Amino acid sequence: MDLTKLKRESLCVQAGWQPKNGEARVLPVFQSTTFKYDDTEQMADLFDLKASGYFYTRLQNPTNDAVASKIAALEGGVAGMLTSSGQAANFYSIFNICESGDHFIATNDIYGGTFNLFGVTLKKLGIECTFVDSECSDEELEAAFRPNTKCVFGETLSNPGCKVFDIERFANMAHKHGVPLIVDNTFATPINCRPFEWGADIVTHSTTKYMDGHATAVGGAIVDSGNFDWEAHADKFPGLCQPDESYHGLAYTKAFGKMAFITKATAQLMRDLGSIQSPQNAFLLNLGLETLHLRMPQHCKNAQAVAEYLENHPKVAWVNYCGLKGNKYYELGQKYVPNGSCGVMAFGLKGTREQAIQFMDSLDMICIVTHVADARTCVLHPASHTHRQLSEEQLKAAGIASDLIRLSVGIENVQDIIADIEQALEKI
Ligand SMILES: *Cc1c(COP(=O)(O)O)cnc(C)c1O
Repeated sequence: MDLTKLKRESLCVQAGWQPKNGEARVLPVFQSTTFKYDDTEQMADLFDLKASGYFYTRLQNPTNDAVASKIAALEGGVAGMLTSSGQAANFYSIFNICESGDHFIATNDIYGGTFNLFGVTLKKLGIECTFVDSECSDEELEAAFRPNTKCVFGETLSNPGCKVFDIERFANMAHKHGVPLIVDNTFATPINCRPFEWGADIVTHSTTKYMDGHATAVGGAIVDSGNFDWEAHADKFPGLCQPDESYHGLAYTKAFGKMAFITKATAQLMRDLGSIQSPQNAFLLNLGLETLHLRMPQHCKNAQAVAEYLENHPKVAWVNYCGLKGNKYYELGQKYVPNGSCGVMAFGLKGTREQAIQFMDSLDMICIVTHVADARTCVLHPASHTHRQLSEEQLKAAGIASDLIRLSVGIENVQDIIADIEQALEKI
């Protein structure tokens, strides 16, 4: 039985760690920085990328590799890697393609941390990002491309605006210009959407969110579909297609074919920048992944009920959840996340910003935390928390009204969630 061909629910439980005779049934934590060899030659081949194997955990570790291959299997990709955080995953996904003097395009509704990384920090490295509205016209999107554009980036479901990204449209446009589409699939997870099926080339994750699902470990992941033909646009991607002097003149595309992208990101970026996930965190992430297929439908079911409750409440001004009929993103949601989007929604109250804060402070079971997408229902006010660094103008461009409350619906009993919201609404 080919275990990589299992259905998603089975992959959550079974993919990744496949023990040999007499080995631990459950994925062990390889809490070791280093690995032992019998002779010098074997180790030398590993250093030259002539053989695959483990020698130092900054490059690869068996616990991490098992979890990365589970995530790759869930996304339907050819290879994956773990990173220390979602930030590192998104940074590596861009930096593995772009060098100083290059340019890329991203939608402006992405997570605040990613927005800063792309707009401020990458700029300091000489990589420029043009932000476009995810609903811009084809002409506007065309106009954002330059001769030195190397990739396009978007989020399946934007954090915190909960907009649905038209993956197919952006993939077609990226491919027309000979560049890959990278999609941050954190909120949808491969249970609800597999961006590769719509033409995306590379997927990233903050595994900190639903994949871990219990708010225990910060982490990230990158998965490559193996579909993008770097060699067909070799002039654009010298880092992948031309010899790497730091590996004795090896060219990743020629030496590793479909594995080129992840091999380069591991052998070069992880070697030099070192944003590894600790094996202990990878172990926790794997436990989360084992129930991802059970938790996601429950998050969606609860969120749908909460969204409908809020929509009908006289004190609520607006709700953005793509599962609501009549929502601006309902049609796109039906296309990309037909079984439900996730537990996260955004809404605003009638009344002042102070009343919004009073509402949040009046919640009992639901806590205010800088987190989303775990088992516990929580709230956050992005304008005064995660997106504090953004100007009023940038907030508006990112679709974050200053009254926007981000609610992450958990997997408790939905009647208790609604009852808590109700008693807090009564206090304002
Ligand atoms: C949280 C988040 C990130 C950043 O991930 P960390 O694990 O916090 O570094 C990136 N993208 C999205 C969509 C997120 O929600």
